[in-house]
Amino acid sequence: MAEDVGFEPTIPCGITVFKTAAFNHSANPPRPRYSTTQRCVLTSNLDAFGRMWVMTDKDYMLMAIEEAKKSAARGEVPIGAVVVQRNTNSSDNNKLINTTETERVIATSGNAREELGDPTAHAEIIALRKAAARLGRWRLSDCCVYVTLEPCVMCAGAMHQARIERCVYGAPDTKAGALGTLYAINEDTRINHNFEVKPGVLQDECADLLRDFFKGRR
Ligand SMILES: [Zn+2]
Repeated sequence: MAEDVGFEPTIPCGITVFKTAAFNHSANPPRPRYSTTQRCVLTSNLDAFGRMWVMTDKDYMLMAIEEAKKSAARGEVPIGAVVVQRNTNSSDNNKLINTTETERVIATSGNAREELGDPTAHAEIIALRKAAARLGRWRLSDCCVYVTLEPCVMCAGAMHQARIERCVYGAPDTKAGALGTLYAINEDTRINHNFEVKPGVLQDECADLLRDFFKGRR
């Protein structure tokens, strides 16, 4: 049964579309093709049986966690970000499957503040810049940003400027969080663009990364 291997069917549309069930580390679901070196990453994919596997917020957060780990290996505070574009149908998108479920990772980045000696080199800022360069436009209204730590005022401001559709973050930031903890830039009606925020996705994993990093430094 599909449930036995950690998946459940969702929307039928000619081919059977499957959606990952609540993420279960032990279920070890088949991963879509993913490589940080690829220019474009397809995140919806057909398996050998013609079924489509759809990524969940947790799957994308796991990618952001990988970016955070790479940052830690470079001596940076471990924070990672991923930008996902939904329902892509642009001209450079001819490899994507023609379905409303298609979406793709267009940028990934870890925190690079030390490496670049740049106070603005937060993971989200770099990922947003890469995403804008990739799409050739500043307006990212069809994009969702996944980030392991709640964005600061600067990054929340950049998300507002980019007119993003949604932000999903892992751990809340009690000292700088601007998407719900100290400020809620995303829902401030005085600002001319609001966006959806989903906090707490893989919160413990994201917070542990930071805790372990700072513990190792002491
Ligand atoms: Zn920031």
